[in-house]
Amino acid sequence: MENEVLTATHDFCKKYIQPYEKEIDLDGKFIKEILKELSSHGFMALPFPKKYGGLEQSTILYSKTATIISQYSGTIASVLGAHCLAVFSVLFGGGEEQKEKYLPDLIKGRLIGSFALTEQNAGSDPASIETEAIRDGNFYILNGTKVFTTNAGLSDLYIVMAKTDKERGARGISTFIIDRNDKNFVIGRQEKKMAFPGLPNASLLLNSVRIPKERLLGREGTGFIIVKKVLDIGRVAAASAAVGLAKRALIESVRYSKQREQFGKPISSFEMIQSHIADMGTKVEAAELLTLKAAEAADQKRRDAAKIAAMAKYFTAQVAVDVSCLAVQIFGGYGFIQDYVVERLYREAKMYEIIEGTNEIQKLIIANALLKEME
Ligand SMILES: Cc1cc2nc3c(=O)[nH]c(=O)nc-3n(C[C@H](O)[C@H](O)[C@H](O)COP(=O)(O)OP(=O)(O)OC[C@H]3O[C@@H](n4cnc5c(N)ncnc54)[C@H](O)[C@@H]3O)c2cc1C
Repeated sequence: MENEVLTATHDFCKKYIQPYEKEIDLDGKFIKEILKELSSHGFMALPFPKKYGGLEQSTILYSKTATIISQYSGTIASVLGAHCLAVFSVLFGGGEEQKEKYLPDLIKGRLIGSFALTEQNAGSDPASIETEAIRDGNFYILNGTKVFTTNAGLSDLYIVMAKTDKERGARGISTFIIDRNDKNFVIGRQEKKMAFPGLPNASLLLNSVRIPKERLLGREGTGFIIVKKVLDIGRVAAASAAVGLAKRALIESVRYSKQREQFGKPISSFEMIQSHIADMGTKVEAAELLTLKAAEAADQKRRDAAKIAAMAKYFTAQVAVDVSCLAVQIFGGYGFIQDYVVERLYREAKMYEIIEGTNEIQKLIIANALLKEME
């Protein structure tokens, strides 16, 4: 089964993503069409329960497919990653009625989701979010602004964290579902980013958005618990995508080094280029193994799953940056030119050191876990 899915993922990417790689990257063209195809081929349903229309496959398989998709397009991998954060939020945080209402459409890709936690004054410290949700009879009224929301504008549903009790810090955070058509809900200007120009990312403006109380996920005050659970699995997906980027950089570099001749020989015959390739290959292998270990820990619901996910996210992001940097070096001047994919990979890699918790935050999680484990 696993090999069939992986072969099918490669075949899918070759047919539906590879021919449009540049258009997807530059303008976000064909994202909707590709999501539709991904959905009809079952790729959006992989890690989710059968009960809601999923395929209930392992996190390991989810990770491996995310790596393959990222090899072909970091933009598509990021759209899917952000969407899955929204799906996992409903799965981990929602009551049965909410799961039955939203999950089948999200899992089948009929609805696309976003996960909106970050605010201007609350990035690494999400407990300090200022968006507020005030109960008003059978409704909540939300006020605040979210920043950097991936899929903003593309998504139908937005998972929004807001304070229902300002006095209780992290325990005062609750999670809500906002519909793109809700009155007074506005998507801000699309961000101009260092990389991924075609990846939708914008602020969300909530100016007295009134929603029925049934759109509170689970109970009041459980928002932070949901966020932690969602990010633990999200970090495995982000690590998988970072591995995909690094693999692509390695593949492109090996190919180029065999074709490019200097001093009358392919540059692959020079020991210093071989040294770069050896470093790249070793790092990619180590990053992939650690990511698969994190996926396995998630599947086995191990107590240290969050720590290993943080390790994988931290390590793979660094590997993506290092390996794509060496790829540019192997390409020489051409690596600096936009016609060559490694130029883009180098810029894209930096994102993985920031999203879903920066490298520094991953190190805090890892160190805290180790210090507790070894008490
Ligand atoms: C392309 C992109 C997509 C994104 N998508 C989403 C999304 O879909 N949803 C969402 O909610 N957010 C999203 N984000 C936001 C992202 O999660 C945050 O940018 C990230 O968590 C960091 O927050 P910040 O930018 O406010 O940085 P800050 O928290 O201000 O951090 C600035 C620096 O200080 C360091 N720092 C902060 N606290 C500590 C500490 N205690 N110890 C040591 N160092 C520290 C950080 O590591 C960093 O180096 C996205 C960001 C980008 C760039």
